[in-house]
Amino acid sequence: MAEKVVEIENLVKRYRELVALDHLCLSVEEGEIFGLLGPNGSGKTTAINCILSLLKFDKGSVRVFGEEMRPDNYRVKRQIGVAMQNVAVFGELTVQENIDYFCGLYIREKELRRQCVEDAIAFSGLSEFRKFYPGKLSGGLLRRLNIACGVAHKPKLIILDEPTVAVDPQSRNRILEGIQKLNREGATVIYTSHYMEEVEQICGRIAILDKGRCIASGTKEELKSMIKTGEKIRIEAEGLTPVQEKEIGELRHVYQVGYQDGMLEIRCSGGKHNLAHILEYFGKNEIGFGRVYAEQPTLNDVFLEITGKELRDPVGGQQ
Ligand code: ADP
Ligand code: MG
Repeated sequence: MAEKVVEIENLVKRYRELVALDHLCLSVEEGEIFGLLGPNGSGKTTAINCILSLLKFDKGSVRVFGEEMRPDNYRVKRQIGVAMQNVAVFGELTVQENIDYFCGLYIREKELRRQCVEDAIAFSGLSEFRKFYPGKLSGGLLRRLNIACGVAHKPKLIILDEPTVAVDPQSRNRILEGIQKLNREGATVIYTSHYMEEVEQICGRIAILDKGRCIASGTKEELKSMIKTGEKIRIEAEGLTPVQEKEIGELRHVYQVGYQDGMLEIRCSGGKHNLAHILEYFGKNEIGFGRVYAEQPTLNDVFLEITGKELRDPVGGQQ
């Protein structure tokens, strides 16, 4: 059994009447990238602040590296690296000086610190910008600097709160690859995001948050197997009759059919060869069709089926 790095039990945090965390339970194991996925306002940052003992909570317990987390537990804090949601660097220090400053809070020995700073600059792809002041950096580069400052001291536990919000695709990829590299080198990572694609891409286990509660957790495969949707198939087909639509709905594993503007949308529960069965029906009935799309369920489908709401941002996906 892998060691538990973070254990949260029945955490309750209220801001006056608002219950931001409602009996939240989580456990993060050594060596994993653990994803906290949830829409804005679901309690991700509040959970992080409780883990770090930056916020007092009303009920429950938080253990980090097996010890109860308290504001003065510096032995544990020393082993944690954080990049907060709001970038916090010094405007009057250069990129390199910023990283050196934050690293210096943990590492006094000069040569070791120099090496750590160099590693952090290389890891975040900031070599060309080392002499730049933060004010001159793009949003993506600034985020990368924020992360480099948080992890330069090579902590065992890294917590990143929405590190890719509003960054360009190049910086986003760099950040995701960087996180995976730190993880391969041995760090346990807690990663919060409201972008399901990212969480799917890099996280081993995922907890889905909604209104301060963990509504589901597990690997992405486990999460997807919890729901009814197994596969979504879309077929461009002109002139389907209502009878044909009904018959398709009666094919094996098909539990939902929609037909609008020449696009047939079918949801299938588990099972294999769904597409083949459907196309066989098309062949037999001599129905012409255009493009065919088959998609596996996403974490959005999991969220949608459990909560009845979309996890995705209502417009455009990315902020
Ligand atoms: P997330 O990080 O998932 O977006 P937060 O943890 O920031 O969510 O917020 C959870 C809920 O708590 C939200 O409804 C938010 O408005 C509320 N909240 C967060 N911080 C405060 C605060 N300092 N005072 C009052 N309400 C807060
Ligand atoms: Mg947040």
